[in-house]
Amino acid sequence: MAEIYWQKEIETASPEQIRSWQSERLVKTVQRVWDNVPMYRERMKEAGVEPGDIKSVDDITKLPFTTKQDLRDTYPYGMFACPMEDVVRLHASSGTTGKQIVVGYTRNDLDIWDDICARQLCAVGATTSDKVHVSYGYGLFTGGLGLHGGAQKLGAVTIPVSSGNTARQITILKDFGSTVLCCTPSYAMYIAETLAADGTSPDEIPLKAGIFGAEPWTNEMRRQIEKGLGIKAYDVYGLTEIMGPGVAYECSEQRGMHVNEDHFIIEIVDPDTFEPVPDGTQGEIVFTCITKEAFPIIRYRTKDIGVVTREKCSCGRTFARMSKPMGRTDDMLIIRGVNVFPSQIETVLLKMGYTPNYLIEVDRVNNLDTVVVNVEMNSDNFSDTVAHISASEHALEDEIKSLLGVAVDVKLVSPGSIQRSQGKAVRVIDHRKLHG
Ligand code: ADP
Ligand code: ZN
Repeated sequence: MAEIYWQKEIETASPEQIRSWQSERLVKTVQRVWDNVPMYRERMKEAGVEPGDIKSVDDITKLPFTTKQDLRDTYPYGMFACPMEDVVRLHASSGTTGKQIVVGYTRNDLDIWDDICARQLCAVGATTSDKVHVSYGYGLFTGGLGLHGGAQKLGAVTIPVSSGNTARQITILKDFGSTVLCCTPSYAMYIAETLAADGTSPDEIPLKAGIFGAEPWTNEMRRQIEKGLGIKAYDVYGLTEIMGPGVAYECSEQRGMHVNEDHFIIEIVDPDTFEPVPDGTQGEIVFTCITKEAFPIIRYRTKDIGVVTREKCSCGRTFARMSKPMGRTDDMLIIRGVNVFPSQIETVLLKMGYTPNYLIEVDRVNNLDTVVVNVEMNSDNFSDTVAHISASEHALEDEIKSLLGVAVDVKLVSPGSIQRSQGKAVRVIDHRKLHG
C-alpha cells in the first residue's frame, strides 16, 4: 500500500499545532512586509497597526486586505519582499493586457511549492513509480511548472508535455504509459472525447488518476471525465498571487480541498462587510501567505466565493477543507484558462469606434470554451454589405485576440438591437453552467 501522505507529520498535525505554526509564521511575515514592502507599511499605518500588535492568528483581522488592484498599482516588483538577487523565478497571471501581475519566488519558495504539489500527488495515490503527464501550459502560467515541480520532487517520472496538440497527447498517453494526468478539466474532457472518436477504450491506456483545476468545473463533469478516461478525477485549487496550483488539494474522499494551512491562512469573509463569517458559511475566500519570502501577500481577496469546513476528514488530514469555488464576486470570466474581464473587451470596442452596446455570450462546445461578442454598429460604422461587415468583424477579433490573448467570434448587429437595461446592464450570458 502506497504512503498516501507526502509530509505525514505536517498533514496530520493537531489543530493546536497548526495554529501555533500559523501564529509564529504570521508574526514573522508581518514584520517582513513591514520592513520590505512600502505599500504594506503605509496600509498598516493607516489602519493604526504595527508589527508588535500581531501576536497570533487571532490578530489577523487587524491587518488590511490586499486586492488585485494593489498588485497592479505596484507592478512589476513593488510587492517583492526580498532583494532581487534572492529571486530565482518569476511567473505572471494569465491576463495579457499589460495589467497582468508579476510574482516572484526564492529558492525556498519553490521548494515549498514543490512540496505542496507533491502532497497533492500523494493524496491521489501517486508514487515514485507513476508517470505524471503534465498538460497544463508551461511558461509564465503557473499550472505547468507547478505540478511539474511537485512530480519531480516526489520522484515520479515527470513528463512535461505542456498543453496543445491533442493527437500527440494521446500518443504519449498510450506509448509512454502515463498514469497521472494534470491539466484543466475542460482539456481532460476534450482528450476523453478525442480518445472516444479514435475508437480507443479507456481500458487501453494505463491512466489511473487526474489532477484538474485552474477553472471551475462541476461534479457532473467530474463523472464524465472519470468515465471517459477510466480514472479518478481530483480537484486542485490555486492562484498565481498566492503560489499557483496546490494552494488547496483534494484527497481520496473527493469532498473538498485541504488547504495547506502550514503555508497559507484561509479566511472566509462577508463580501459586503468584509467581516469574517463562521465555518460553513459561504463568503469570499481570503488568503494570507505565511512562509513566502519573495511575494508574501496579506489577506488577499481572491473574489472567489466558497465555504470552509473543519470537520474531520477520513483521509486523516487535519487541514481545513474548502469547497469548490461557487462563483466570483466580480465579473471575471475564465476562458480556456485565461482570465478575462468584460471591461477589457469593452475597452477594445470603444477604442475601435463602437458604442458600449454589446453582449458577450460564453458557451462550452465540445468541451472547449467559445465566446461570441455581439456588437452594435452605429451611424459612424454602419454597413449593410456582407464583405464590409465581415472585414470589420475580423478587425475586432484580431484586436481582442492580440490584447486579451483569447480568440472570440465577433458578430456585428444592427443599431439598437441589443436589449437596453433598466438597471444594471447585462453584458455577459454564460451558458456553461460551471458552478453546481
Ligand atoms: P491559475 O494560473 O492557477 O489559473 P490564475 O491566477 O490565473 O491562476 O487564476 C486563479 C483563479 O482560477 C482562481 O481565483 C479561481 O477563480 C480559478 N480557479 C483555480 N482553480 C480552480 C478550481 N479548482 N476550481 C474553480 N476555479 C478555480
Ligand atoms: Zn481528506
